[in-house]
Amino acid sequence: MSKVILNHGAGGELMQEFLSKHITNHFPSMNAEVPLDSMDDSAVVDDVVFTIDGHTVKPLFFPGGDIGKISVAGTVNDISVMGASPLALACSVIMEEGLDIDVVDRVMDSMGKTAAGCGVPIATGDTKVVESGAVDQMVMSTSAIGKRSPYLDSNLAKAAEYRKVENRWCTDSSVRPGDAIIVSGYMGDHGIALLSFREGYGFESEVQSDVAPLNRMIAEGLKVGGIVAMKDPTRGGLANTLNEWCGKSHVGMEIDYSAIPLRDGVVNACDLLGIDPLSIGNEGKCVMGVVPEMADEVLKAIRRTPEGKDAAIIGHAVEGTERVVLRTEVGGKRVLEAPAGDPVPRIC
Ligand code: MG
Repeated sequence: MSKVILNHGAGGELMQEFLSKHITNHFPSMNAEVPLDSMDDSAVVDDVVFTIDGHTVKPLFFPGGDIGKISVAGTVNDISVMGASPLALACSVIMEEGLDIDVVDRVMDSMGKTAAGCGVPIATGDTKVVESGAVDQMVMSTSAIGKRSPYLDSNLAKAAEYRKVENRWCTDSSVRPGDAIIVSGYMGDHGIALLSFREGYGFESEVQSDVAPLNRMIAEGLKVGGIVAMKDPTRGGLANTLNEWCGKSHVGMEIDYSAIPLRDGVVNACDLLGIDPLSIGNEGKCVMGVVPEMADEVLKAIRRTPEGKDAAIIGHAVEGTERVVLRTEVGGKRVLEAPAGDPVPRIC
């Protein structure tokens, strides 16, 4: 009998294969504008944008955040990257008997503050307690609904001034050759902050988790216009996001390594641990595909927000083979593969 392994939930190619062979294949097919099959950040059903996220981060509190903040931010971001405004959240909490009630209060306080900060209420929920050991302290699931952003139509109309736009939402399949690729800030911070804190490597003094809701930053970008695709590079990091876009949009990509914002602390930690900073999960970052004519304007707008102040244009989509070619600092080229899974488990 084959067994579930950690990489089946680690956001890379192994997870995609696992989902298609053992999860989604059992579900009835659905007729929706963005259905389950498209495996996007959210589904779109009858113009309602709908998503859910599970949270198993270990430990519950880490430099820069905690499970409560991640649960709100991650869910708000999955709605927002579709080009939608999150309306309300639902939260299910499962905790083990014996957990300190003080821990519950701290997590829920953080959830409440994050929800208030991004303007999305927690409207419904469920609480369960299981025997000690049946879960590790606390796991949560957070769901959200959203509706079309008031800026999405004008954003897509702006893109359509320069090229044909087929999709009504900012999906993974909407990138076309020539589109500029923007990242909203430093890559790898969350995964390295978590790993370093958990294992005692000490890099967490320089690197804090980036966990943050991005709905306001994304709205500023949409107001300018020209954004065709967005995704939050969580498990599997930037490498996974770009490869997913190549496969779903049928494009190649040329990315300039030196243009990708990477902190010294992340690069040093990755060198030491032998992992790729581009395969590590982020919790407060967005990757955008933007028509090239509008890329500088969108960049300027998101840089004016606190979450996007370190944003950069890192390359562009090209015709041809569905792969990501990385121009290295010494002038060479290498293919950036999709990771089998995120090298750091239980980061979200
Ligand atoms: Mg996502």
